[in-house]
Amino acid sequence: MKNKLMHLSNETINLDFVNKVEKLSGSSVRRCMQCGKCSAGCPMATFMEHPPNRIVRLLQLGQGKRILAGRSIWYCASCETCTTRCPNTVNLAAIMDALRKLSWDADGPSKESYVQLANRLFIENIRTYGRQYEMRLGAVFNLRSGRLLKDFLLGPKLISRGKLKVFHQKNRNLDEIEAIFSRIEEMRKKGEAL
Ligand code: SF4
Ligand code: SF4
Repeated sequence: MKNKLMHLSNETINLDFVNKVEKLSGSSVRRCMQCGKCSAGCPMATFMEHPPNRIVRLLQLGQGKRILAGRSIWYCASCETCTTRCPNTVNLAAIMDALRKLSWDADGPSKESYVQLANRLFIENIRTYGRQYEMRLGAVFNLRSGRLLKDFLLGPKLISRGKLKVFHQKNRNLDEIEAIFSRIEEMRKKGEAL
């Protein structure tokens, strides 16, 4: 396989993006010395085109676009193994969170945009119903993703086994859940939360 060359220039290096990641995550990317301990312990590294240490290296080189165009950040399971193993206190799990947030704000262009859609619908359901409503999640996901028949045959099986409810009751404590969402929005406005 041919090695892909990376061209570094003022046009391709985006240091603003790196500064944003550092601010959001509260962690320096400059401290990374590329020892690879994070990637060696990451349970999801084999699924990523850029394992954790390479994500940090790409950030050091101002290649945020390249990271957001890939799927690695969406495979991260937030297990924090990388953060725990780093000998130089790089908080990679927080960096992954910050990258997902920036990808979310930019609305793509992730190769895993279905993950973003699923994320949005998941949160939307929690805010509207106070709990997950799997039937709606699946139906709206299929509609919005254009994959109308995805898992179509699975639905009746799950319903017959009582694993999927057709009708759904809202959580009694919906007001409290709404208060949590409102508080997070306030904190975001003040820059106190991602
Ligand atoms: S937090 Fe994410 S990147 Fe870090 S080890 Fe876990 S899965 Fe890998
Ligand atoms: S463990 Fe820390 S220093 Fe080593 S490559 Fe990963 S982020 Fe960099």
